[in-house]
Amino acid sequence: MTETPATVRPDRRAELAAGLARVRARIADACAAAGRDRAEVTLIAVTKTYPAGDVLALAALGVADVGENRDQEAAAKAAEVAAAGVRPRWHFIGQLQRNKCRSVVRYADVVQSVDSVRLAGALDAAAAATPDRERPLDVLVQVSIDGDPARGGALPDSVDPDRGLGPVAEAVAGAGALRLGGLMAVAPLGWEPERAFARLGEVAEWFRRRHPAATMLSAGMSGDLETAIGYGATHVRVGSALLGMRPTLR
Ligand SMILES: *Cc1c(COP(=O)(O)O)cnc(C)c1O
Repeated sequence: MTETPATVRPDRRAELAAGLARVRARIADACAAAGRDRAEVTLIAVTKTYPAGDVLALAALGVADVGENRDQEAAAKAAEVAAAGVRPRWHFIGQLQRNKCRSVVRYADVVQSVDSVRLAGALDAAAAATPDRERPLDVLVQVSIDGDPARGGALPDSVDPDRGLGPVAEAVAGAGALRLGGLMAVAPLGWEPERAFARLGEVAEWFRRRHPAATMLSAGMSGDLETAIGYGATHVRVGSALLGMRPTLR
């Protein structure tokens, strides 16, 4: 942890303000095109690989939600941001190992990447054992759009007791320290966004019949947020269009 507080240079602040204005305009246009209220869609700034100073600058510009995909990086960044007196909502959006749950629940407000019954159990135990959590942890079930069990995501149309979407959602809904918020998905590589999010829309409809209070749908990134909003996304996770291209593909 650094002693010097996180800061951001004026030119970087201007760059982030311009990126944010572009992304907000894209979201507003997509909502208008879909006949949806702009207030239905929340922007999550995906700040992975970028420093705490960028989070502070974005927060000062009105961004209340940030996303991170690696525990080690996120834990350090969240501590730095908190030390500056700023409290965004932290969304954990990356693949999560069970042995990292205890760390993630210390800073995350939402975990979007729960895709197995065993992971839900580990997260529930970790949240229950964290003394300063006085409210349930919001959880989204990450769903696989192409149904490939080799990759991440709970499997729709599957009764697999650990990876089936039904069992995972039931496990989260029944966990005392977790609150089932909805679904998250990433369009599979090589799929047209249209096809991917149309399929996700069907899965979300099935899911909401069983869990009507779990209305969050986290879908859409820099390249495909318009299509996701067209199919009902309530949260878009935007990194590169907002902060710039990341040095490595992650
Ligand atoms: C990195 C990442 C994003 C943001 O991707 P961009 O294309 O940079 O907008 C969104 N969701 C997840 C799960 C990610 O890992």
